Amino acid sequence: MAWRPSASFHLWSLFEPAIGQESLHCDMKRGFSKARSQEPAIKALNETNTKQQQIGHLAQKGVYEFHQNNLILDRANSLQQVTEALSLNQEPEEVRQRIISVLKRYQEDPILLGKEIIRLSRGDEGIPKPILIEYSKYQFNLYAATDCIFREPDGTLHILDFKTGKSEFDLRQGYVYLLAASYLYPNQPAIASFYNLENGKRSAEIAATPIQLKAIQIEFSKIAQKHQKNLASYRKNPDLFDQIFPANPGSACRSCSFNSICNYSVIEVSI
Ligand code: SF4
Repeated sequence: MAWRPSASFHLWSLFEPAIGQESLHCDMKRGFSKARSQEPAIKALNETNTKQQQIGHLAQKGVYEFHQNNLILDRANSLQQVTEALSLNQEPEEVRQRIISVLKRYQEDPILLGKEIIRLSRGDEGIPKPILIEYSKYQFNLYAATDCIFREPDGTLHILDFKTGKSEFDLRQGYVYLLAASYLYPNQPAIASFYNLENGKRSAEIAATPIQLKAIQIEFSKIAQKHQKNLASYRKNPDLFDQIFPANPGSACRSCSFNSICNYSVIEVSI
């Protein structure tokens, strides 16, 4: 298969902060995770599931297990069965408690019950199949892993993204799903939304006109090209890493996965 530049919501979020999250943005994170990802120490950090990511995967898998057999939602011991399927007894106490609370909440409000589910991910499938996108003779692969797609009664495809923790819903991610759906399910109306499995918070439904999708496609094409330029510059001049991917030390460092190896990392002292 021919090599092509790639783009994803993750790359977009590393490139540009979400509105209101500007102070948490740091270009150097993109440098570590994309340009230096093969260095052993960085590879290890990239591969280490953080606690929050682990909770996200287990929560998604819990929903998947509940729906493996619809009857499981009605059975008194279904919670026990899902808990065992997830091997929760091998998880740290905090992770176990948070996932049990997710499972109980989902049993009380099984939002996918009765839906015409087209696809429900287990959460551990790995990198999705790329979608080839071409804009103005520039080709790139779009990667968009969807948690769940179901069909609304009027035939509209609904792409549902599960969240956990305190993460904010980022509208851009919804648009990325809709762009992917326009290629995977052409000519089918689609909407996207987010649902937090821990607190039950739902986003509004997100829809996009063909013009909006075109604009997202153009934005992605620009991001993929700029990113490739940055990678090429780094390969040519590795010593210029911190100029190509400038650091933004500050509050971003607290939750940064690279703070243990970054020369610019700061520890904030609260007054
Ligand atoms: S530790 Fe701070 S400065 Fe370094 S990459 Fe992370 S956010 Fe940027």
